[in-house]
Amino acid sequence: MARIYDRVALIGLGLIASSMCHAMRRAGLAGEIVGYARSAETRDTAREIGLCDQIYDTAAEAAKDADLVVLCVPVGAMESVAQEIAPVLKQGATVSDVGSVKSTVIEAVGPHIPEGVHFVPAHPLAGTEHSGPRSGFAELFDNRFCIIVPVEGTDRAAVDRLIDLWRGMGALIDEMDAEHHDLVLAVTSHTPHLIAYTMVGVADDLRRVTDSEVIKYSAAGFRDFTRIAASDPVMWRDVFLNNKEATLEILGRFTEELFALQRAIRQGDGDHLHDYFTRTRAIRRGIIEAGQDTDAPDFGRVKVRKE
Ligand code: NAP
Repeated sequence: MARIYDRVALIGLGLIASSMCHAMRRAGLAGEIVGYARSAETRDTAREIGLCDQIYDTAAEAAKDADLVVLCVPVGAMESVAQEIAPVLKQGATVSDVGSVKSTVIEAVGPHIPEGVHFVPAHPLAGTEHSGPRSGFAELFDNRFCIIVPVEGTDRAAVDRLIDLWRGMGALIDEMDAEHHDLVLAVTSHTPHLIAYTMVGVADDLRRVTDSEVIKYSAAGFRDFTRIAASDPVMWRDVFLNNKEATLEILGRFTEELFALQRAIRQGDGDHLHDYFTRTRAIRRGIIEAGQDTDAPDFGRVKVRKE
């Protein structure tokens, strides 16, 4: 794969940025990869493990002279970072981000992007419950979708170049507008995370079931909830604060369905339960057929994760 950008700056050096660094190196997509993280501790770790060719102490130093700057910080921190790097951005450069919410990030970052710099928001639908510069791995984006959310009037060549980069990192590409992205993600990711957080919280509150019982008897169902509920609290706080409307809409529907199932259980309405579970089972089959998961009992995760 040919080089796509000469100099890429990663702002924020967590799971997503470190995975991007490994994936870009794997395919030789960038001439030079530089990075910045907020804390000295993260910067030191990044230097120690050789993440990026150069780590800078400020976001502006890292973004200067970059052909592509990718904001890889929590959604709530995007604006302040954009504000800091704006004055040093090179003419013709592209700024992108990997935030899990798109409408508010576009509203927050867009106004800071200077004339002559392209802004192409994106969101890779890939992650684990781990954070930080050590958690990344080159295969994270392989065969996972990256949604590109071009803003009106963006130079098509700049969008296509970023698409080439994500394809080179192994991702499949889709394009959609920000509002639709936020609704889709509220259904497929944000609300399920909230439900997992709730279920694990309930188990924790239920003192009649001891901690050791929860751990010892956590069959696949609860175990998967605990994995999701171990995700980074800052990232997920920001997701819900920034995708308020869509998440509340889906949660409203979820609550209605939950009450309907609750009534079916109370009334012994087995047909309702059976029909419902038959419909949902088909969705799982669809995900496997689309190659977005495996039907292995552990969902193939042991093999996907490379330590
Ligand atoms: P992460 O591993 O927690 O890393 C976050 C990075 O952002 C760290 O380097 C952190 O610096 C920095 N940071 C945190 N708060 C900051 C602030 N206020 N100002 C400047 N820098 C700050 O996070 P991640 O999982 O890579 O997520 C990064 C972005 O990708 C988020 O917007 C998230 O929504 C999105 N995303 C995540 C996933 C996922 O599953 N994890 C998937 C797709 C997209 P320090 O280490 O110095 O604190």
